[in-house]
Amino acid sequence: MRAVFQASYASRLLKIYSRRIYTASGYSTAIQENYGYYESDQIQLQNVVKKLVDTEINPHVEEWERDGCWPARSLMKKFGSAGLLGISKPVEYGGLGLDYKYHAAYIEALGHGRACGVLLGMGAQTDIATPPLANFGSDYIKREFLAPSIAGDLVGCLGISEAGAGSDVAGLKTSARSQGDDLIINGHKMWITNAWCADWIVLLCNTSHGPAHRNKSLVVVPMKSPGVHLAKRLDKLGMKSSDTGQIFFDEVRVPAKNIVGEENLGFTYQMLGFQPERLALALMVLTPLELCIQETIAYTRERKAFGKPLLDNQFIHFRLAELQTELECLRSLIYRSIDQFIGGKDATNLVSMCKLKAGRVAREVTDACLQFWGGMGFTNEVLVSQMYRDLRLISIGGGADEVMLGVICKYMGILPKIVKK
Ligand SMILES: Cc1cc2nc3c(=O)[nH]c(=O)nc-3n(C[C@H](O)[C@H](O)[C@H](O)COP(=O)(O)OP(=O)(O)OC[C@H]3O[C@@H](n4cnc5c(N)ncnc54)[C@H](O)[C@@H]3O)c2cc1C
Repeated sequence: MRAVFQASYASRLLKIYSRRIYTASGYSTAIQENYGYYESDQIQLQNVVKKLVDTEINPHVEEWERDGCWPARSLMKKFGSAGLLGISKPVEYGGLGLDYKYHAAYIEALGHGRACGVLLGMGAQTDIATPPLANFGSDYIKREFLAPSIAGDLVGCLGISEAGAGSDVAGLKTSARSQGDDLIINGHKMWITNAWCADWIVLLCNTSHGPAHRNKSLVVVPMKSPGVHLAKRLDKLGMKSSDTGQIFFDEVRVPAKNIVGEENLGFTYQMLGFQPERLALALMVLTPLELCIQETIAYTRERKAFGKPLLDNQFIHFRLAELQTELECLRSLIYRSIDQFIGGKDATNLVSMCKLKAGRVAREVTDACLQFWGGMGFTNEVLVSQMYRDLRLISIGGGADEVMLGVICKYMGILPKIVKK
């Protein structure tokens, strides 16, 4: 049944985008070879995604970076119509019901975008906002918010962080009190991706006075609800085309049936939700870093100094070899985590390592490559400087490096226990 479904999916996509499959660029060659990991269906899917990125994203990224936002509504619709916003979401709600490896293949191909801000916005929909709805939401929540988001008709966002609680999720202050069949929400959320373009937010808030890990619920709030106020768009170092905002909630009324899953289990749901989010953030760096290395090779091969190509300096080609090695180590770790994730085992430890390593490799590769571009590397004209800015986020967003180290230490049994006074 699944094989039939996959075959029909591939032929549907090929019908929509039935022209040539990309084989010319080095990137596509890498996709075709795929390091032996992805299978032919998944490679086909990547070719379709790359084509969409080339036609619908790359020609416009400069403008979107300048404007500090991207046309979420129309782009989501295009991706939704191609079936790409629900690759591993349930078929009953418009998803394709395929395993996570297909979705991983999609994220890698999306990385062909020449600015990561759009990827971040699209990822906020597929990898952080809709997963809790798909995994724990009621049929009502799935029909009302999940299905239209998979179709690309609605845009969603996830609100966990607050000005006083980012790493320390348990310390968040936004609250919801019951009033009849409704909840009344007060508080705020900070650094929210898609804040301005979203139709709905799923936010984590305190719904009882119990212990901090058992008093929170995830609640879906339509952004048009009276009492939802957007503060200004945040100006950022990178990911400029992604809209990031602060949202205030002032006596916002939603029906209690908008609680995702069981009341007061929101913290646990979110801890589970961090795993696909962190895996997606790690996957997001693979293609951009590959492109940074490839474009640096091409540039230093052309650029001559002291009578020879820059690339012929042993320091430069050895350094590029080191960076490629780091990237391949990261890739292997990520692929191993995906297999563990799909296998249904607890992948928290490996996923935390992926997220940590992805942030560190991204910083190392973009910084080292940028150096070899000299003055050009310091301009906004080249991919390397774009990625230097954009990918700095990976060590901060979705749990900072130090939070990942804490999780890994816990699994190693070396995290000191908190002594309660
Ligand atoms: C562009 C962008 C998009 C984002 N999108 C979203 C979104 O869509 N939804 C959402 O909810 N949030 C979002 N965030 C928020 C993001 O997840 C938080 O910024 C992140 O979790 C870090 O929290 P913080 O900024 O409060 O840092 P803090 O918690 O103040 O930590 C600051 C620094 O202290 C260090 N640190 C923290 N804890 C420890 C520790 N235990 N031990 C040692 N050092 C430590 C780390 O270096 C950390 O970077 C986004 C952030 C950005 C920048």
